[in-house]
Amino acid sequence: MISILVCHSYFLRFDQKQAERAKPYPPLATLQVASLLRKAGHEVALFDAMLAEDFSRFERQLDVLKPQVVLFYEDNYNFLSKMCLGRMRRAACEMLGLARVRGARIVVGGSDASDSPGEYLAAGAEVVLHGEALATLMALIDRLNADTTLDAQQLAEGLPDASVTGAKRCNGHAARLPEPKLADLPAWDLIDIEKYRRVWRRAHGYFSLNMASSRGCSFRCNWCAKPIWGNQYLQRPPREIAAEMIHLRRHYRPDHIWFADDIFGFRVDWVKEFAAALAAGGGGVPFTIQLRADLVSPRMTEALREAGCREVWIGAESGSQKILDAMNKGTRVAEIREARRLLGGAGIRVGYFLQLGYLGEELEDILATRRLVEETRPDDVGVSVSYPLPGTKFYEAVRAQLGEKTHWQESNDLEMMFSGTYRSDFYRAIRNLLHDEVTHPAAPEIARRWHDLCAREHEYRQESPGSLAPAPALRPAAAFT
Ligand code: SF4
Repeated sequence: MISILVCHSYFLRFDQKQAERAKPYPPLATLQVASLLRKAGHEVALFDAMLAEDFSRFERQLDVLKPQVVLFYEDNYNFLSKMCLGRMRRAACEMLGLARVRGARIVVGGSDASDSPGEYLAAGAEVVLHGEALATLMALIDRLNADTTLDAQQLAEGLPDASVTGAKRCNGHAARLPEPKLADLPAWDLIDIEKYRRVWRRAHGYFSLNMASSRGCSFRCNWCAKPIWGNQYLQRPPREIAAEMIHLRRHYRPDHIWFADDIFGFRVDWVKEFAAALAAGGGGVPFTIQLRADLVSPRMTEALREAGCREVWIGAESGSQKILDAMNKGTRVAEIREARRLLGGAGIRVGYFLQLGYLGEELEDILATRRLVEETRPDDVGVSVSYPLPGTKFYEAVRAQLGEKTHWQESNDLEMMFSGTYRSDFYRAIRNLLHDEVTHPAAPEIARRWHDLCAREHEYRQESPGSLAPAPALRPAAAFT
């Protein structure tokens, strides 16, 4: 059996917004892969970049453990990894160099590597995986285990979902291998859980851990990148998830669980079975999920409450039906309002993910989003601007407009990378206003700030004849109160 150092490259300290937010989660997908490899009999160690200060521990592990293989496997559940941030790519490439000079064999998997394998191959990776590629990974490791002298081409020969130097994507047509079942528990023991607990408790007074009951999503919103799972929705049995939650409660005592699923539960029956299994096992841990507005019904709300759900984040995106339709979101603004009402009525907190700057969005659409927030009063909002990720319809639509900058460097970047209706500063100001709308709903100056912003936008349009659409007629200040 071979020795493998499993790692990832998301360093919290390289992302200022997330470092200030102080809500780090262990790299779940990385831990699942570590567990799978260990179950197959390999000797597995882990470098967790999340709370690391720099590369020094990684270098020490390379020097002391002398792993035969270094596997970079990003946490596919982490939305920050899905964003393919430029700063983390640089970190990965530096780490690749450190592993390469020590003679380790290197395999890389993750959203950014799936989109841009050439960058990782040039930095020292021998094989880049496309998508989750668990079966391909296990086959590669088996081959290495049988013969460590195989070169990269020989390793990847005939396997799907892999790239090696000189081939943009080799074996794209190779028959898919049967996917291995994920090991029952991620390799939590390889993580310094107490370090995470300290960060959470110091900043928030409680400790949250992460789980995932499913992978992927079968919906097709135009801007949502799916380099890892495509359009599949792979859900695990509710009893297995309940057992994992009970294990975490007993061994690591989290106060809260964040489910990283794009869509938790999906079916009411699944959630009811999950709730029943938790009750039979002595109860679970209060949790937060992400869910689409159109999946929230009275029965779903009740099942979630029974299971211990405390908070639901809805991908609301916009208060304008025109924009939801342009995104191919498949939800109605009325469904967002109803979901908020049902969940709030059951005592479940509600957050909205909102997106600004999508193609065709005008001031009146932004004001519709403001109205949605103002009238339905979510407990929290997360606001971003539209971000064209490779492989999406949205990316193709704006591809010709992309300049040199194609990725955000950090999650707070919020830079418009295509010719949107407005400039980045305008969207940042709207973002701040939407946040204030939630945190200080009665503050009298909010209406004035909305009005001033809209007036500034009007001036900007007049100064910028190249902007896409005619400016809407400004309503009097009273209309914005
Ligand atoms: S529902 Fe959510 S996860 Fe699914 S495609 Fe739309 S944005 Fe992506």
